[in-house]
Amino acid sequence: LEGSFLGFKAIHYEKVSVSQVKEVGAEGVQVRWLINKENDGAENFAMRLFEIAPSGHTPTHSHEWEHEVYVLEGNGIVFCEGSEKQLKPGYVVFVPPNSMHNFRNNGKQTLRFLCLIPYS
Ligand SMILES: [Zn+2]
Repeated sequence: LEGSFLGFKAIHYEKVSVSQVKEVGAEGVQVRWLINKENDGAENFAMRLFEIAPSGHTPTHSHEWEHEVYVLEGNGIVFCEGSEKQLKPGYVVFVPPNSMHNFRNNGKQTLRFLCLIPYS
């Protein structure tokens, strides 16, 4: 099959199913697991695409893995351990392990960013 064999994949992101993030504290957040272990056999890390509606936000949370974020569209604020930064397209964010953080959309359009995580 063209575009997929032995785990190889090259597709448009819109082909990847989207789901609402139902975690407590999440509002207006959708995620697509663009590349992951379950569907693609990616053993080491996952690439997710998040879409946050205007006024939406992720939960404020922490965990043992880091985030590597690249902002594609929209405007938002990242909070991390008492610091806040305004985000716009082209910004990159590193959220270190075990730090309290969240992302929220303070713009008028969808905030869209990639977020890569390792599998522990
Ligand atoms: Zn997180």
